[in-house]
Amino acid sequence: MSITFYPDYEYKMVKRPCTYCKVCDAETNEDPYCTGYREDPDCPTINMANGNAYAIMELLGCNLDYSGHVKVEDLPRIQRAIIKARNVASVRTGATAEPYESGGPGTGQCRVVYCGRDDYYVSRRLSEFQELVEHCQEKGCGFYWC
Ligand SMILES: [Zn+2]
Repeated sequence: MSITFYPDYEYKMVKRPCTYCKVCDAETNEDPYCTGYREDPDCPTINMANGNAYAIMELLGCNLDYSGHVKVEDLPRIQRAIIKARNVASVRTGATAEPYESGGPGTGQCRVVYCGRDDYYVSRRLSEFQELVEHCQEKGCGFYWC
């Protein structure tokens, strides 16, 4: 299971006409489902495994739930949390996790390898959130996750 973070839906879309339907001004063919809008390929989205997402969300002060929304007026609070976490190693440590391995041949259990979350991973995800928040501030919208 994973969680995806993305700007408010309407800001994730850009007007991109197709060449074949009346909605998009073509003479022929009717596409009743075409809105003339497509997902913006430049729109930042972040996808993470649930456990990783929760660890980062905790750093950012987001509600720990499988889906949620941060309003545009709450972006400065999120931004401050990102800046603090990016600059203070001891804050990032709260989101790291040690790798482990268990089970395998001779143990009677299947082998489980957990890769953990190191400081590099947490830092990289924080800079992705920085980019997402800056995009939202530019557009004047919040962001969702689900
Ligand atoms: Zn169309």
